[in-house]
Amino acid sequence: MSTPLLEAETRTAAAAVLLAEAATAHERAALTRVCLRAGFLWRCHPCKESHYLTTEACGCGVKRPEGLA
Ligand SMILES: [Zn+2]
Repeated sequence: MSTPLLEAETRTAAAAVLLAEAATAHERAALTRVCLRAGFLWRCHPCKESHYLTTEACGCGVKRPEGLA
């Protein structure tokens, strides 16, 4: 059994490290796409904002999708 909270924190830490290494906006956009696809980030569709898994809701009120964290 995995522990969902720990997994979200581990994924968030990995995504943060990768995004911190992105040198250009192009790299950042590419990494964000990969992280979204891999479930290391989630996207609020109304505002197209990407969020870490440890963020439970977007500023606009949309909640993190079920099953991600
Ligand atoms: Zn939003």
